[in-house]
Amino acid sequence: MSRTDTPQRIRGTQDLFGEDARRHAKVVETFERVRRLYGFQPVEIPIFEATAVFARSIGETTDVVSKEMYSFEDKGGDSVTLRPEFTAGLARAYLGNGWQQYAPLKLATHGPVFRYERPQKGRYRQFHQIDAEVIGAAEPAADVELLVMADQLLRELGVSDGVTLQLNTLGDSATRDAWRQALVAHFEAHRGDLSEDSVARLDKNPLRILDSKDPRDRPIADAAPGIDEHMSSEAGAFFAAVTKGLDAAGVAWTRNARLVRGLDYYRHTAFEFVTDRLGAQGTVLGGGRYDGLIETLGGPHTPAVGWAAGIERLAMLIEEPIAQGLGIAVIAEDRQLETSALAFVTALRRAGVNSELFASGNPKKRYDKAMRSNPAHTISLSHREGVNGVAQRSLRPQDLDLEKVRSIVDPLIFALPQSAA
Ligand code: ATP
Ligand code: MG
Repeated sequence: MSRTDTPQRIRGTQDLFGEDARRHAKVVETFERVRRLYGFQPVEIPIFEATAVFARSIGETTDVVSKEMYSFEDKGGDSVTLRPEFTAGLARAYLGNGWQQYAPLKLATHGPVFRYERPQKGRYRQFHQIDAEVIGAAEPAADVELLVMADQLLRELGVSDGVTLQLNTLGDSATRDAWRQALVAHFEAHRGDLSEDSVARLDKNPLRILDSKDPRDRPIADAAPGIDEHMSSEAGAFFAAVTKGLDAAGVAWTRNARLVRGLDYYRHTAFEFVTDRLGAQGTVLGGGRYDGLIETLGGPHTPAVGWAAGIERLAMLIEEPIAQGLGIAVIAEDRQLETSALAFVTALRRAGVNSELFASGNPKKRYDKAMRSNPAHTISLSHREGVNGVAQRSLRPQDLDLEKVRSIVDPLIFALPQSAA
């Protein structure tokens, strides 16, 4: 870097400010409210893990592991990876900390995740997810609860119109093996027209071709056999219990028999909430059941189900949140009253009233400066004004509990230095 160069933001990362930051915060706040309603506990896990945590659970042939992970050797020579998602790390934490004792455990978290992808609108290299998991629950009721929660989140964000829940089952291992054979036969017949990546997938992991974004693969993938002809009665019954639960809860869904997810660990339920309002980046929330994941990490058989949603994509869909307006502007129009004004604003804030102090710079201009911040109410301390040296003006009284304000402010007015009276 030459001396005049200023450092640039890394490609695919974002600096969020103003409206962008407010949109982001609104998504997180709404998620926090909904996860409490559903009794999901907050949890925080590291931003990086041993590479094996992701490589083993997500699957070596997935896009995420084969080309999108930020992996590097740390100074001790160990391979570590910035988390590309939450589920694997949460499973590692569940196993390593003995959280089995709390099963079934409902967990919620959110924060940055990292994938080396081609950046575009709605697709970043550092993005943010909200995430909800139920670990140690085998019943379809857990899948239903998570889906109903996701649906409520989208409703409370005001984005559920135009977002559809696409639902599939990936069956149990018997179902999957039979389906896999049918898929191999189908894709072999079109081998010559598949992308190079998909030809490679054909040998290693043919289900992955269904999730391909390559336009050469799409028509072949869309015409591939669905899973239903191969469904075991057990897997069919599980799926029926999930859809029955959704119907009972009034959550609309559509079947997509070719839906697989970008990660290998899913079994039974798989789903995506999809919109056509974000172009190619139409998946806002996705997840499913991952009964085999904890075993791939060396743990005991542990049924689990979860979902994650991209905060950026939800943030693009919501209506612009209104910036919080200023409640009370406290203005010291006199140098001698600056300390008193500080006492006013402190008392108001301690009582939970949003307020701002205007007691620096040119005293004559403080009032004008305060007005530019569009307060609902002003408290102006001055030797020029009023009997007590305090002028109050309510500009948007509906935005404030004026009784409360008076009860905080009146004793302070009484205690003002004599010179103000
Ligand atoms: P896509 O098909 O769009 O690549 P995905 O299947 O890779 O999504 P998941 O791994 O299921 O996505 O992650 C859950 C959610 O995270 C997605 O539904 C999406 O909203 C969001 N997401 C995934 N990748 C990105 C990214 N690079 N930038 C922004 N958001 C993303
Ligand atoms: Mg992806």
